[in-house]
Amino acid sequence: MKLYNTLSRTIEEFEPLNPPLVRMYTCGPTVYDYTHIGHLRKYIGDDILRRTLEMNGYEVKHVMNITDVGHLTSDQDAGEDKLEKGAKKFGKTPLEVARFFEEDFFKSIDAVNIKRPVIVARATEHISQQIELIKFLEEKGFTYRTKQAVYFDVSRFPNYTKLSKQELSEKLVGARNEVVVDREKKNPQDFALWFFTTGRFKDHVLRWPSPFTEGFPGWHIECSAMSMHYLGLTLDIHTGGVDHINAHHTNEIAQSEAATGKTFSRFWVHHAFLSVEETKMSKSLGNIYTLKDIRDRGFSPLAFRYLTFQTHYRSEMNFTWSALEAAQKALEKIYEIAADFPAPRIGCAEFEGDFEDALNQDLNVPRAISVMWSLSRSNYPDYAKAESLYKMDEVLGLKIRENAKIIKNIPQTILDMAKDRDKLRKMRKFNAADKIRVDIEKKGYVVEDTDKGTKILRKI
Ligand SMILES: [Zn+2]
Repeated sequence: MKLYNTLSRTIEEFEPLNPPLVRMYTCGPTVYDYTHIGHLRKYIGDDILRRTLEMNGYEVKHVMNITDVGHLTSDQDAGEDKLEKGAKKFGKTPLEVARFFEEDFFKSIDAVNIKRPVIVARATEHISQQIELIKFLEEKGFTYRTKQAVYFDVSRFPNYTKLSKQELSEKLVGARNEVVVDREKKNPQDFALWFFTTGRFKDHVLRWPSPFTEGFPGWHIECSAMSMHYLGLTLDIHTGGVDHINAHHTNEIAQSEAATGKTFSRFWVHHAFLSVEETKMSKSLGNIYTLKDIRDRGFSPLAFRYLTFQTHYRSEMNFTWSALEAAQKALEKIYEIAADFPAPRIGCAEFEGDFEDALNQDLNVPRAISVMWSLSRSNYPDYAKAESLYKMDEVLGLKIRENAKIIKNIPQTILDMAKDRDKLRKMRKFNAADKIRVDIEKKGYVVEDTDKGTKILRKI
């Protein structure tokens, strides 16, 4: 299996350190707001990676964190804690906010059929592991304290920019645009491991006693502490969004490798962004869409999953409503095809091979999808197509078998309505026919006009 590694900027052959086990860690959500489609695209990408590893016979120990403290509104230690800001906005405590949006997150990922991680680790439930790691870094001389925080001293870690490939001077320029909130910081790119609940964070609600005085952890330390706690000192794969490369993941590497002297993660997989109608999602444009928006417009969350398959995970995906509509139609089509399949047996090795090859080439899902369509249109017998299609769907996760059973299961009353509609249309009574169409749609069915008259599918 070949996989692009951000660390080397090349596609490499992937082999875990101790097969068949794959130690995989994903940076999870900061749970202070609703999960949007940009998040979902990223986690669907991780899901495809995990399912492809499983297709290849690996056992994936997938760990993901939940950030419920310490992530400031700037990744460079400036601004407020996102959780505390969310708490003020919604009139709740930070932990109430965190649990509420964590639930929204899991509902959202379930709806697009993402397999849940084997271990989900909340930052607030692993404070002692984070304190231990900071203490250890202090003992090894990688840190210093100011009146506000314990910082990691990047000048003590020579390979600091090995993931970002930035010149440290570039980072300095970037950092200059940030609001400097601690004048005692030695280097602008030094980052906080532990904030003290004095001074600017004196009203911070979440706080814990520690050897460095009372406070709360910085955002980056949780991922190092929890990933190594559950997976050991060296991970096989660490994933996240491209926005994490320059600060968050760079800092994770620095603090982990400074502590252990070992490679922190062998592979780094990063997902590209999603834009909406060629523009960046933003609050001011009102285009930060969630699954609720997708459902409200009559689309299935799985249609969104299918839509993400059309763009490779390392390319920016452009979301449009018309593309989602086409994705929904494609999904209905594959369910409809599968609805007529007999019991599956003896698959089509040729197509299964092409499908696996596509995924094993740095997760080429767009190609894998086109293999799926070629299979469905091929001359193989239907029982063989069924066998291969369901096998492919173990990676694609489109719930083809389940929905194929549902999509053509139409009650007699609805079929009678369709017949009435056809009669009215023959008599050219289009207004009355349209009224029936609306009634059928209201009951949760899709109405299509074909040469043979009204076709009804159950809405997915
Ligand atoms: Zn992380």
